[in-house]
Amino acid sequence: MIEARTHEVAQTEALAAVIASLSRPGDLLVLVGDLGAGKTAFTRGFAAALGVTDPVTSPTFTLANEYRGRVRVHHLDAYRIEHLDEVRDLALPELLDGDAVTLIEWGDTIAAALPNDYLEVKMTLGDGDDDRDITLRCVGDRWSARSRALCAALADWVVSPC
Ligand code: ADP
Ligand code: MG
Repeated sequence: MIEARTHEVAQTEALAAVIASLSRPGDLLVLVGDLGAGKTAFTRGFAAALGVTDPVTSPTFTLANEYRGRVRVHHLDAYRIEHLDEVRDLALPELLDGDAVTLIEWGDTIAAALPNDYLEVKMTLGDGDDDRDITLRCVGDRWSARSRALCAALADWVVSPC
């Protein structure tokens, strides 16, 4: 578990950019946190770091957006999914099999339908209005192998020893 803290939205975008630099095609990131926690802001910084120039907006109504940068980025939102059988509409296996990175907002709500390899990014409001506590959890070998590198690269924001 890696515990980090940011103090303004630009820092969350910068933290996400560092994580993006350690990401690989086929990766999955599960973004957890209440409305306004910063899941879309995280995705914006992440996508920008991969060369996406289109504006990144919340996919709450579209369920899925696809952005093209140096790597393709799938941005999904599970907020409106009420039943696990609706997850098949997201065509996750196809997305994860390809050469893109996938980020799912509210991904914890469909955890049972996710593969066992992802980076969980949990965001909660901190003490100040613009503070966010961000906890990273590597699930499965794919991300666990990068855990130390992640922690080191995020030194500017990490609040617990790696
Ligand atoms: P979510 O997608 O989780 O609902 P958004 O990313 O859409 O959240 O919104 C987060 C809001 O919080 C934005 O208005 C953003 O400017 C603000 N904000 C303030 N401080 C931070 C921070 N440290 N990290 C992320 N967002 C922040
Ligand atoms: Mg959002």
